Amino acid sequence: MDFSFTRQQEMLTNMVRNFAEQDLAPNALSLDEKGEFPYDIIKKMAKLGLVGILSPKEYGGTEMGHVARMIAIEEVSRIYPPVGFFFQAGQLGIYMLQLFGTDEQKKKWLMPLCKAEKVSCTAVTEQTGGSDPSGMQTTAKLVGDEYIVNGRKVFITLGGVADICCFVAKTDDKFNAFFVEKGTPGYVIGRKENHTGMRCIPVNELIFTDCKIPKSNLVGQEGRGLIAALTAIAGIGRTGAAGIALGAGRGSYEAAVKFAKERELYGKPIINLQGLQFMLADMNVEIEAAKWLCYYAEWLLDQGKSTREISSEISRAKVFSCEVAIRTNIKAIQILGGYGTTAEYHVVRRLKDSIELLSAGGTQEIMRVTIGRNIMA
Ligand SMILES: Cc1cc2nc3c(=O)[nH]c(=O)nc-3n(C[C@H](O)[C@H](O)[C@H](O)COP(=O)(O)OP(=O)(O)OC[C@H]3O[C@@H](n4cnc5c(N)ncnc54)[C@H](O)[C@@H]3O)c2cc1C
Repeated sequence: MDFSFTRQQEMLTNMVRNFAEQDLAPNALSLDEKGEFPYDIIKKMAKLGLVGILSPKEYGGTEMGHVARMIAIEEVSRIYPPVGFFFQAGQLGIYMLQLFGTDEQKKKWLMPLCKAEKVSCTAVTEQTGGSDPSGMQTTAKLVGDEYIVNGRKVFITLGGVADICCFVAKTDDKFNAFFVEKGTPGYVIGRKENHTGMRCIPVNELIFTDCKIPKSNLVGQEGRGLIAALTAIAGIGRTGAAGIALGAGRGSYEAAVKFAKERELYGKPIINLQGLQFMLADMNVEIEAAKWLCYYAEWLLDQGKSTREISSEISRAKVFSCEVAIRTNIKAIQILGGYGTTAEYHVVRRLKDSIELLSAGGTQEIMRVTIGRNIMA
C-alpha cells in the first residue's frame, strides 16, 4: 500500500493552498455577504487548470484525475466551501459530457466549460422526485427531429448562472438526458432559493414550457439518461460533497487549534485545558478518518472502478465526512467561546455551508440505504 501523494499531487496541493489563501481568504466574508456568483475567481481557477481537472487535454482539460480533484476541492473548501460547491455542481455536466457526450457535443461544450467561459448545471430533482428520481414528471416528447419538454426542476445549483443545463426528462416510460442552452425559447430560470449556506452559489428552479430541444442534444444512449446522471451524481456530486465537508471541517479545526494556542485564561493558553484538548483530539481523529474515506474513494475511481462497483466507498465518504464537518464546526464554535459565532472567525459560516451538504448529492439517509443494500447483497 502506498498512501503518499505523487510529486504532481504535492505541487497541486501547494498551488491550490496558495491560491485559496491569497485569493479566497481575503474575499470570503464579502463574497458571502454579497451573495453574487464569483466569476472572477472561477476564471482564475480555470487558468490554473482546476476547472477541467478531470477532462482530456484535447478538450482543454488538465487530466489530473479524481485524487487531484479531491485535493483541489479540499483546499479551496478549507478556506471557502462555496467555491468547492462550484467544483461539485459545475463538474457534473462536464463529467456527463466526457463520459457520454458525442464528439460533436464535446467539441461544442467541453472546451468552453473547462476554460470557465461557460458554466453548466445539472438538473434531476423535482418537487415529486429528489431521493426518488423515478417520480419526476418532466416530459420530453419526440416530435419529428425535436423533443418538446415540459416540466419544472427544483434546487438546481448554478441554475441561475449556467449557460448550459444538463437535465433528465421522461420520454414515455424511459428517461433521457439532454443539454439545453440558456436563451432557448421555453427554458426559463425560476425562483432563487434563499439557502442558509453556500451563499454565492445560486440554487434555482428551472422551468420548461413547450421547450424544443434538437435530437442532437440528447446525451448518451436513448433511455439511459437517468443512469448517466446518477453516474455523474455518484462520481462527482457525492465525492464532491464529501470533499467540501472535509475542507470545511479541517478549516475550522485549524482555526480552533490556532485560537486555543493564542487565547489566554488563568495566565496561560486555553490549549492547556484538558477538556479542550479532548475536543481537539476528537476533531483531529474524525477529520483524519474522513480524509482517508474521501481519498480512498477517489483513488478507486482513478484505478478505473465504476461508481456502481464502489457505491459503498463513495457513500461512506459522503455520509461520514458531512457529519464530521457539522460536529467539527460546532466544537470549533464552542472552543472559540463568544468569538465562535462572529463572522470574522468564519467558523459559523463553514457550519452553515456544511448544512447544505446534507441533502446535496443525495441525502445522508440515501447514503445509508446504499450501504445497507450492499451489506444485504
Ligand atoms: C444546496 C443544494 C443543492 C442541490 N443541487 C442540486 C442540483 O444541482 N441538481 C439536482 O438535481 N438536485 C440538487 N439538489 C437536490 C437534492 O439532490 C435533493 O434535495 C435530495 O436528493 C433530496 O431530495 P428532496 O429534497 O426532494 O428530499 P426527499 O427525497 O423528499 O426526502 C425527504 C426525507 O426522506 C428521506 N428519505 C427519502 N427516501 C428514503 C429512503 N429510501 N430511506 C430513508 N429515508 C429516505 C430523505 O433522506 C429525507 O430525510 C440540491 C439540494 C440542495 C440542498
